Amino acid sequence: MIINIDENSGFCWGVVRTVEIAEKTLSENHDGNVYILGEIIHNPKEVERLERMGLKTINHEHLADLKGENVKVLIRAHGEPPSTYQKAKELGIELIDATCPLVTALQNRVKRFYDEGYQIVILGKPHHPEIIGLRGVCNDECVVIQSEEEALEKVDFTRKTIFLSQTTMSKEKFHLIRQLLESKVKEIHSFENYKEQLVVKDTLCRAVIGREDNLRKFAQENDVVIFVAGRNSSNGKNLFGICCQANPNSYFIEEIAELKPEWFRGVQKVGITGATSTPRWYMEEVKKAIEQFASN
Ligand code: SF4
Repeated sequence: MIINIDENSGFCWGVVRTVEIAEKTLSENHDGNVYILGEIIHNPKEVERLERMGLKTINHEHLADLKGENVKVLIRAHGEPPSTYQKAKELGIELIDATCPLVTALQNRVKRFYDEGYQIVILGKPHHPEIIGLRGVCNDECVVIQSEEEALEKVDFTRKTIFLSQTTMSKEKFHLIRQLLESKVKEIHSFENYKEQLVVKDTLCRAVIGREDNLRKFAQENDVVIFVAGRNSSNGKNLFGICCQANPNSYFIEEIAELKPEWFRGVQKVGITGATSTPRWYMEEVKKAIEQFASN
């Protein structure tokens, strides 16, 4: 049996940067006072590894409990709303900002168009941390949608609108909704004026989009595909959907214990891949576990 790890999988550069900031902060602070707001990434294995190094994961409700301590609190790649920065300032807590620069740029763009009076329409998951940050920069005055139906139901087509996306959503969905918005706006306003009424900014992350085509090819080249990711990973869900379309013998696992020997019986080529939050070292461990099945 040949087992290949997808060379295009593993952490995106934004996650690499966040993890490096966390490791550096931990190496400079050995007093057990380094915290992170929410899981650093949507991958339990990497969370466990960093927690073993001393990182403590807390939620927003616990921020106030840290008052008065000599603490450092990391902001993860997904970013935070302005209210978090304000609260930390009031509490005298030092924040280490590891927000992905692409997310910061997206937040700035939303803020700018909001200040100019645009209706903000975002393709995204309403309770995803990145969306919570974006909602925060426009006082929650935005329309978050996940489908064409929701777009028709929630968007006010009489208003000047900007349409953008959470960085990790599907390219197909973004373009389908874009076409729908454009046709509705053309219907309501004259064709000549529609570009003034509707601004579209493709804010999908290229680190994710670039993987889609490679992943299709990788999934087709292997008999069975093992997709390794945290179950909360948004781009993990999207990328696994692409795997399943390209190869129905695709299986999603979060843990090595979920592997089943019958998936590999009579199989020649197994591919291992994952989300932008899946650590390479864990895919190597998955490979070793599959090798064990093959040798038994
Ligand atoms: S997927 Fe893109 S936006 Fe998200 S952390 Fe990675 S590089 Fe940044």
